[in-house]
Amino acid sequence: MVPMFSSRPIDPRCPGESGPNRFVYFCVGLAGLCSLILPGAEPRADDYADLRARMVEEIAADVRATALYIDKQELDERVMQAMGRVPRHAFVPRAQTAYAYENRPLPIGHGQTISQPYIVALMSDLAAVSPGDRVLEVGTGSAYQAAVLGELGAEVYSIEIVPELAEPAAQRLQQLGYRNVHTRQGDGYHGWEEHQPFDAILVTAAANHVPPPLIRQLKPGGRMLIPVGGRFQIQQLMLVEKTAAGKVQTRQLLPVRFVPLVGEH
Ligand code: SAH
Repeated sequence: MVPMFSSRPIDPRCPGESGPNRFVYFCVGLAGLCSLILPGAEPRADDYADLRARMVEEIAADVRATALYIDKQELDERVMQAMGRVPRHAFVPRAQTAYAYENRPLPIGHGQTISQPYIVALMSDLAAVSPGDRVLEVGTGSAYQAAVLGELGAEVYSIEIVPELAEPAAQRLQQLGYRNVHTRQGDGYHGWEEHQPFDAILVTAAANHVPPPLIRQLKPGGRMLIPVGGRFQIQQLMLVEKTAAGKVQTRQLLPVRFVPLVGEH
């Protein structure tokens, strides 16, 4: 059984979770209720714009609160704008729609979770993605992180091991028009040989070591973000950089909890 609190930083301000905003709960609850009782009152994309803007503000607040760990007070404006554009409600199961813009991970079925928006934004920022960059993601899940990378103009290659998640993720990306995000089902431990080398690699499941094939597939000058640690332990989000000369340097950033990287390795 995979813990529900995956892909969330351990809040350095206090060991517990920060309480959800009651007003947000009220609004999304009300919107959800209306869509249930009023036939044809399906919320439109724009109905979520305010909630999304509020989510972006919460991400900014989390960034300031974790500044000592991540060594920055704010994230790249392009990343924040991308977070403000991607319709997270389209990436969560119907039963979770009302919570789509809460700054926390949510269950997406098969024991997996969509990552917390703050973590998605942080990893996207630290990957320093420029338009046209080739980016590998291991762990497509809902494809939310992949879509954010797509919004940044990257050519994204994302691998998911669970077929029941890989298939709907691919369909979702197609429906939403993310033509620059490519997916496949398989074990991402081995990377994606045909499309390497990558400017950036994001691993969104926790490994107990940095997979050597991923280091190999990283471009000189490239950056990899990966949570490293045991299955039932607190993991460390690590930044792995390959210098222009091919030397590998690692830096621990902050404690996180992700679902485990599974597979034959
Ligand atoms: N990035 C996702 C959330 C990731 S949850 C999102 O934005 O929604 C981690 C995902 O990694 C899960 O879907 C899990 O099935 C997948 N996973 C675990 N081990 C994997 C492996 N070896 N290769 C590819 N995907 C893997």
